[in-house]
Amino acid sequence: MEYEDLRKQVVDAGLKMYQKGLTHGTSGNISCRVPQKEKMLITPSNISYEQIQEKDIMLVNFAGEAEETGRNPSSETPFHLMIYKNRKDIGGIVHSHSVYALAVASSRKTVPVFLDEMFSEIGGELEVSDYALPGSDELASNILTKLGDKNALLLANHGTVCCGKDLEEAFWVAETVEKICRIFVMSSLLGGVHPLPDEGVEYQRMMYEMRKDL
Ligand SMILES: [Zn+2]
Repeated sequence: MEYEDLRKQVVDAGLKMYQKGLTHGTSGNISCRVPQKEKMLITPSNISYEQIQEKDIMLVNFAGEAEETGRNPSSETPFHLMIYKNRKDIGGIVHSHSVYALAVASSRKTVPVFLDEMFSEIGGELEVSDYALPGSDELASNILTKLGDKNALLLANHGTVCCGKDLEEAFWVAETVEKICRIFVMSSLLGGVHPLPDEGVEYQRMMYEMRKDL
């Protein structure tokens, strides 16, 4: 079996996503880029995260073809491929259906920059992509347009897309997104968040650009 180490990372991230309550049942999916190849590894559809093994992780090339049989790659394969093809800096993607993120995604509200880590983890405000059917090419193209050069995005009435240079970073972003949305929802009960003042946003933007260039 090729890429055993990467497959293990995908299996572990899926289990962690499930155990930490960032998704439920078989929803959501996880992928990682195969370095130096136009290929990715992605979780299969219709199997619980507690049952997925390394052999169930599907190898898919950038033409969208599964390079092995046995399982079906996740139905959300199109948007994972679209991101890897267009964002060379991304090596791992976590697509979660976490509760507070879904609350914000369903209200279709942009979360303004109100915490420092929104720049360090996400790259700015947390936006919501336009609605399109799950698994569709339209959803993939909506995601790419709205994601820009950021690391995270909410999908209208659906879930999140959280990216990183590797799966570890993508998972960290997914946890941060859920935390940010939780605070955003709770603050709305108290009258809503106050965004960082302009100088605070500028400072965070500067720090973010500096870190990116390192
Ligand atoms: Zn989904």
